[in-house]
Amino acid sequence: MDCIFCKIVAGEIPSDTVYQDEEIIAFRDINPQAPVHIVIIPRKHIPSLDQLKESDSALVGRLVTLANRLAKEEGIADKGYRVVINCGKEGGQLVPHLHLHLVGGRRLSDQVG
Ligand code: AMP
Ligand code: ZN
Repeated sequence: MDCIFCKIVAGEIPSDTVYQDEEIIAFRDINPQAPVHIVIIPRKHIPSLDQLKESDSALVGRLVTLANRLAKEEGIADKGYRVVINCGKEGGQLVPHLHLHLVGGRRLSDQVG
């Protein structure tokens, strides 16, 4: 499949991985928007938030819990951070494989979008 994040999952393209288990991989964004910018993805190809199934709920819970844990490990939990899921064209989603952005390490914009 021609999906860049599936290629990262398959080890076909390299990534600066900060966490992985049987269901999830987290790696540093190649074009960071802040001092800490980590992308958290399920290994399973889910095209977008819009394509989530009821049965994916536990997995999404794990993705969010991992963002919380990585924020602590990266030392940004106390000052604050942002977790973002872009969905679809107008939502700014460029890679069609569900992912969370964990962003922090500087004062972020007050605007959500
Ligand atoms: P989105 O706009 O929400 O789809 O975000 C996709 C993100 O993936 C962007 O922040 C890109 O910089 C990032 N990205 C794309 N390719 C790679 C890659 N090979 N390794 C790490 N991050 C990537
Ligand atoms: Zn994919």
